[in-house]
Amino acid sequence: MRVVASCLCGGVRFTLPGPVGDITACHCSQCRRASGHFAASFDIEGDIDYVVLETLGTYETPKGAMRGFCTRCGSSLWFRDVDGEVSVEAGAVDGLTGSRLTSHICVDDKGDYYDIDDTKLAESEYGAQGPEVSL
Ligand SMILES: [Zn+2]
Ligand SMILES: [Zn+2]
Repeated sequence: MRVVASCLCGGVRFTLPGPVGDITACHCSQCRRASGHFAASFDIEGDIDYVVLETLGTYETPKGAMRGFCTRCGSSLWFRDVDGEVSVEAGAVDGLTGSRLTSHICVDDKGDYYDIDDTKLAESEYGAQGPEVSL
């Protein structure tokens, strides 16, 4: 089963191996800037296959990871870490994901204007930056 995902304007549409896995919210400053709030994404195993590839843009982060987005509508689409692992933004999935948000990472770096009032365990990817927060 392939899951379909796309940007807001339809300039980028792709499929990925399903089903959608557990969704992780990342509160780091890069994800907050890229998404406008915080990112919610899931890891995929296997490759993205593009159906429409008119407006895909990529941005290389300072650490060498890559973000895929639409150059026309600005939608955040995927993130490829330096180790090659790819995650896809949950909001890009067409229709129902059939999955759940199960964890929060980089919570020490979250914005100051919201609380994570989630009953799920929050874990910090960078534990040295502060105490882990259990919510
Ligand atoms: Zn677009
Ligand atoms: Zn992040």
